[in-house]
Amino acid sequence: MSTLREIPCPHCAALNRVPADRLADNPVCGRCKQPLFAGKPAELTTATFDAVAARGDLPVVVDFWAPWCGPCRQFAPVYEEAARSLEPQLRLAKVDTEAQPALAQRFGIRSIPTLLVLRNGREVARQAGALNPAQLRQFLAGALG
Ligand code: ZN
Repeated sequence: MSTLREIPCPHCAALNRVPADRLADNPVCGRCKQPLFAGKPAELTTATFDAVAARGDLPVVVDFWAPWCGPCRQFAPVYEEAARSLEPQLRLAKVDTEAQPALAQRFGIRSIPTLLVLRNGREVARQAGALNPAQLRQFLAGALG
């Protein structure tokens, strides 16, 4: 018997229960039938943030960014590559602080890009500034023990 993992769908926010040993088999959402892991960061809004980032059994990394921010654009491909390589161990998500100022305010984001690591909706680590791939791996390893 495999342990069931609770995985919120990044598309429709439905909570799915997936056997832990099936997480890597491209599971789809029971409600909207889209892949639970798309191999890219999930775009979150005020409407979806809590349902996707504050529930479930996976640690969630959130990149707070903005379209006008040069370092954010530089970091984007690094982060997308991390999503391809780290899912389904982690959920990688991003929040456009220009479109979602309430979320930036809620988490006290003072500069962008800023990365947050959440477990069960609680912040366990934070890093401001763009990272290269090695720095990102190191940060996540430290954050997740
Ligand atoms: Zn869904």
